[in-house]
Amino acid sequence: MKKHNFSAGPSILSEYTIQQSAAAITNFAGTGLSILEVSHRGKEFVAVNDEARALIKELLDVPAGYDVVFLGGGASLQFCMVPFNLLNKKASYLDTGTWASNAIKEAKLFGEVDVVASSEDANYTFIPKGYTVPEDSDYFHFTSNNTIYGTEMRYDPDLNVRLVSDMSSDIFSRPVDVSKYDIIYAGAQKNLAPAGVTFAIVREDALGHVERPIPTMLDYRTHIKKESMFNTPPVFPIFAALQTLKWYKELGGLKVIEKNNLDKAAILYNEIDRNKLFRGTVAVEDRSIMNVCFVMNDEYKDLEADFGAFAAAAGMVGIKGHRSVGGFRASLYNAMPKSSVQALVDVMKEFEKQH
Ligand SMILES: *Cc1c(COP(=O)(O)O)cnc(C)c1O
Repeated sequence: MKKHNFSAGPSILSEYTIQQSAAAITNFAGTGLSILEVSHRGKEFVAVNDEARALIKELLDVPAGYDVVFLGGGASLQFCMVPFNLLNKKASYLDTGTWASNAIKEAKLFGEVDVVASSEDANYTFIPKGYTVPEDSDYFHFTSNNTIYGTEMRYDPDLNVRLVSDMSSDIFSRPVDVSKYDIIYAGAQKNLAPAGVTFAIVREDALGHVERPIPTMLDYRTHIKKESMFNTPPVFPIFAALQTLKWYKELGGLKVIEKNNLDKAAILYNEIDRNKLFRGTVAVEDRSIMNVCFVMNDEYKDLEADFGAFAAAAGMVGIKGHRSVGGFRASLYNAMPKSSVQALVDVMKEFEKQH
């Protein structure tokens, strides 16, 4: 039976990425060696590393004055690396969920943190609006897509301070105006590659303004200077990332991908709104097109486990909601085909008929 992978992360990758990666595990770039055993300094892998960074720039239309680096430690290490490199006195953060609040916790180790707004009291069911960001902030940090709660800021804010965004779970889902940002970072395992690599897009002139000494590995300048090869990078995830990036380009780029994503999300949200058994969990205007959270309506609450089993029997994988929301979460990352979204909708309709 075909499996439809709605996992939140690590998550679905394109067939192209999987096939090219599988082939490179037996014979990488005609070397007669596996990608798993080659030197990261060999010319074949250096070419992969360079091409992947160049394609990130091309797809996101990254302007001059920015560098792209692959890093270890996950998006979670960026929660401390950003303030380490940028926070002198005070930074402002928007608290929209678990990942945002984890970032806030780390920033507090480095200086004053102004949480300009939070939706924690409402279990993060909406994106706060109408807040002001103090102009004396070293930067403003926000999470563009809240993977756990299913809310998303699908726009690039206009502010008079440096802008930093954790785009781990919606990077490459839409065109982004990179020129508005000083740092964008994203873990690979949601929309790019297997787990094990993170990348950051860094505006060069944002760096070098803090007084504190920065450990070599945590200083963005180290990685920029060495063209993302200061130490051994995660070779295989970067190879897989390159395959996904090539596939994105082949599809026609981020405008085309965004349109697909909007279509897919509309198919599922329309069914959630129509079906008597289900309801969405977040404010309609803040709904994520990447992570769709929904629960059973109160009068059907006791059918939750049954629906989970019914969907699993039809090949749906990874739709159990995060423990902090409950119910269900279907992640519709770029590699998720429309046919799988339709398959989930068919299962929801069929289950409704039976009840
Ligand atoms: C998954 C996720 C993270 C955590 O990523 P790690 O690579 O596990 O550290 C951080 N932020 C967002 C928005 C995420 O979706």
